[in-house]
Amino acid sequence: MNEKDTLHRFILEHTRVRGERVQLNATWQAVLERYNYPDNVKRILGEAFAACALLSATIKYDGSLILQIRGNGPLHLLVVQATSAGTLRGLARWKGDVPAQGLSAIFGKGQMVITIEPPKGEPYQGIIALQGEHIKDAIERYFTQSEQLNTRLWLASNHQQCAGFLLQELPQTSSHPLSEAESENSWEHAVHLADTIKPEELLSLPTQEILHRLFHEDDVRLFDAEPLRFSCACSHQRIGKMILALGPSEAREIVNEQGKIQVDCEFCNAQYNFNQKEVDKLFSDNQNPPSSTLH
Ligand SMILES: [Zn+2]
Repeated sequence: MNEKDTLHRFILEHTRVRGERVQLNATWQAVLERYNYPDNVKRILGEAFAACALLSATIKYDGSLILQIRGNGPLHLLVVQATSAGTLRGLARWKGDVPAQGLSAIFGKGQMVITIEPPKGEPYQGIIALQGEHIKDAIERYFTQSEQLNTRLWLASNHQQCAGFLLQELPQTSSHPLSEAESENSWEHAVHLADTIKPEELLSLPTQEILHRLFHEDDVRLFDAEPLRFSCACSHQRIGKMILALGPSEAREIVNEQGKIQVDCEFCNAQYNFNQKEVDKLFSDNQNPPSSTLH
């Protein structure tokens, strides 16, 4: 069994089909150690982790990709963030019993938002209607509608691992021209083969073995594994900015009432404490110019 947390990219030679396989072990354990999620929430969050890692590898970018679902149903918030440095973090918030199936039963009326945040400049956002049974259904529809790219995902998660597989049909290029019929055939063929993979196999088999099982008659080019890990971007400095955003009077009121300001990071449970001296210093250091960043 492959215990490493990795993303593999591959291409099927002489076709326009590219693919990815992600497998998360330690990353997923780090998430589950921090919160005790009910089984149905765990399963969906695991699928979202795998999906977010796959999506972040479909684009060339620096910064982070955030997959977020908000709704008015039992599972009302799900967020997973992947960075171009290979880190992942995420969480889910729920109330009461979360059903096993159906996006509208699980999330209620809601939407999925994919945000790409570059290190500088404006973020890009894509909004996806929550339709279908599974997260993958909504993502596949998003690619077909907004990106005009045939994309299929296979996602699985359990108490130990989460994993995903993605196939995508690239636009026609002049360097390897294929007829429409050839192209459609190779796409249908690849999807048909990938549909035979079982969730247990997706979770436990090494990528090389999966590719061999599915595409042993095809010419596959597999690229080096890219490592992934759990890591949270929170810091004393970032929490300091949040306190600045409260404004001096509200911040000092909290310190007067509670003796300090305590902030727990929702993603990693790290606890940050600011005493009166630190809060005073924050505001005196940032008097000029007034802070314009709210995040
Ligand atoms: Zn954190």
